[in-house]
Amino acid sequence: MMDGSKLKIFIDFDGTITTEDVGDAIFRKFGDPIKTEAIINDLHNDRITSRQCWDLLCSSINQIDESELNRFINSLSIDNSFHSFVNFCEDNKIDLFVLSDGFDYYIKKILERENLSHLKFFANTLNVVNGKLIPKYPFYNPDYPTSANPKRDHIIDNSSDDDYSIYIGDGNSDKDAAQYCDYIFAKNGLLKFCERERISYYPFKNFDDVKTRIKELLSRKRLKKRHQAQIKRKHAYEAE
Ligand SMILES: [Mg+2]
Repeated sequence: MMDGSKLKIFIDFDGTITTEDVGDAIFRKFGDPIKTEAIINDLHNDRITSRQCWDLLCSSINQIDESELNRFINSLSIDNSFHSFVNFCEDNKIDLFVLSDGFDYYIKKILERENLSHLKFFANTLNVVNGKLIPKYPFYNPDYPTSANPKRDHIIDNSSDDDYSIYIGDGNSDKDAAQYCDYIFAKNGLLKFCERERISYYPFKNFDDVKTRIKELLSRKRLKKRHQAQIKRKHAYEAE
């Protein structure tokens, strides 16, 4: 068995760890349905950036009842194979990082509820002040303006040339980031993107599929890095 400590795993939150996109679900539930759909649609068609999307969605809600919001967040579930996946990674000393272009507000609550608050995560921040939703973007990088929280930056900061990096994701905010990793687990929009761009990936439905595949990777003598990812990382390291 290979040494798991050489593996760095980066995981999307919304729709990957959770069964649905929590950020979108909040605005679909508490915002104006027509406005919300139009804003999310503009994001998915690259007409606005993710930061513009969140700003518009947050300002579209005049007054939110915080306890109702919390109750709603609490009703949303995670992939039930995620716990055994986290245990597997911890047993094998594999580092996990949750990367989200959504908000700390609900990520923290869901991870706490699941007794997973020890997991490292990077996300945008959201505060509820007098019933208003106030977003902030502590990791915003003007060089990558399409993301509010460019996941690639966290991949570069938290891995080195010696590591074998793995990405697990499902959507829009994963397209750029995944390309910096040596191995990609993809579903839904990310899968279609990889398919279209001819980027190699492994399809998955849940974290049991991911665990089975990573076990198999660890049983190999050595892992071959993805050449395109190495080139992308090299450029990023040089630019720092
Ligand atoms: Mg997602």
